Amino acid sequence: MNEVIGELPWHAENWQRLQAARERGRLPHALLITGAEGLGKHRFGIRLAASLLCQSPVEGGKPCGNCKNCHLFQAETHPDYRRIEPEEPGKAIKVDAIREFTAKETLTSQAGGFKVTIIEPADALNIAAANSLLKTLEEPVDWTIMILISSRPGRLPATIRSRCQRYHFATPEQAQSIEWLSQQGVATSPELLLALTSGSPLTALASADSELLAERERMLDEFSAILVKGSDPVAVASRWEKLPFVQNLALVLWLDRGYDSTQVGE
Ligand SMILES: [Zn+2]
Repeated sequence: MNEVIGELPWHAENWQRLQAARERGRLPHALLITGAEGLGKHRFGIRLAASLLCQSPVEGGKPCGNCKNCHLFQAETHPDYRRIEPEEPGKAIKVDAIREFTAKETLTSQAGGFKVTIIEPADALNIAAANSLLKTLEEPVDWTIMILISSRPGRLPATIRSRCQRYHFATPEQAQSIEWLSQQGVATSPELLLALTSGSPLTALASADSELLAERERMLDEFSAILVKGSDPVAVASRWEKLPFVQNLALVLWLDRGYDSTQVGE
């Protein structure tokens, strides 16, 4: 099910920019939504798709949630909406997925409005798939909008990037993130959670419910015990090795290196 969630405060500027372009009839055929993990790029893409497909968007371009198109979208059965993603997380998007999409792309929309396709993560396109997509980007069809989402746009071919209008999400100001976290009910150490999650509010929120902070405290205690009290480092290491927190562990220890936790285990 496509759940359309309300606007995140740090999305407002890009949202308004897009709605203004829509009002002027100047929407790009292809958008590239970029920014770090945990900023809600996926949510933005879904909300935008819902807005474009809705028959009567309400104030600020918000999808009404009640029309036939909104219902079809929520049920993931809208005939003019498509998602292209890897068959398995972490794998490539293959050329067949793009060919299947481009074959249908010349058809007119079934509901008489926009046709919207989300490609995510766009950097998972393999070379053949990217080349195939490039042909579509070079010859766009009216009322067709492609939303490419990527945390690593540098991995996309420059030819693809140059044919998309870029909408970048910067990491929000700490004060805005803290206010938002408190609205979500996070009362304990929002600053630390943000520091541990590279300032990404959604990741900080997810971590607030985990044992991340408590485990971090325990690990710091154990580490200082090695230095101060002569604890056995091998014993400490063997406990750490068993932790279900491999990614968080890396996050805690390598915080200052701008560590990319997605690389753990690769
Ligand atoms: Zn609607």
